[in-house]
Amino acid sequence: MKFHILTIFPKIFDSYLNESIIKRAQKNKVISIKIHNIRDYAIDKHKTVDDRPYGGGPGMILKVEPIYKNLKKIKKNTSTSNKKSTIILLSPRGKTFNQKMALKLSKYQQLVLITGHYEGFDERIKKYVDEEISIGNYILTGGELPAMTIIDAVTRLLPGVLGDANSNKDETFTKNEKYIEYPHYTRPENFKGQRVPKVLLSGNHQKISDWKSAKSKHNT
Ligand code: SAM
Repeated sequence: MKFHILTIFPKIFDSYLNESIIKRAQKNKVISIKIHNIRDYAIDKHKTVDDRPYGGGPGMILKVEPIYKNLKKIKKNTSTSNKKSTIILLSPRGKTFNQKMALKLSKYQQLVLITGHYEGFDERIKKYVDEEISIGNYILTGGELPAMTIIDAVTRLLPGVLGDANSNKDETFTKNEKYIEYPHYTRPENFKGQRVPKVLLSGNHQKISDWKSAKSKHNT
């Protein structure tokens, strides 16, 4: 799967996307991530990407032309066989992201993620996007964390990304939106008087499986 991120702060991604499971997924060529600096598509010599809002009001608005040009370039470079592609605008006004959406997005071959900043986007960019996604009912300074959130949640669903394919099977929210996974323990057996449940030390697979099932919450 290929991810494209459109941003005015490309360096924000340096650390997170180059560590741990996401780093390995890139190394193993399960995913690739291309970061686009929207400023490279500015149409004036000062490389302006934002401007004051018409009608007045606080903050700056991301201009429509650079983002439009950036999207056009991506489209031009996308092979025609790569039909399963979607363009996502990160916005607190969008549909709230959840595990079901992550699963749906994991079926695409290409995700284009447009990150806003300041007061957000010129509304006219909406004509060129397929969907608008929020990661929750709060306001962040930019769409970079939401983009990384989506990349992370989608990537770990792709075959071959997690060390053990079973990890995804029982995970919270996977069976249904209200499902909560059973609790986990590792060594030591006794931590300051808190003991690991005996059944987990029993070696009895059936009993362990029953315990896990009992301790999971199926709040349907
Ligand atoms: N003025 C906008 C509003 O009230 O709807 C908020 C703009 S916000 C400060 C700047 C940018 O951060 C947004 O354009 C969006 O890309 C991103 N952003 C902030 N909160 C977000 C959220 N909860 N989900 C997705 N993107 C978010």
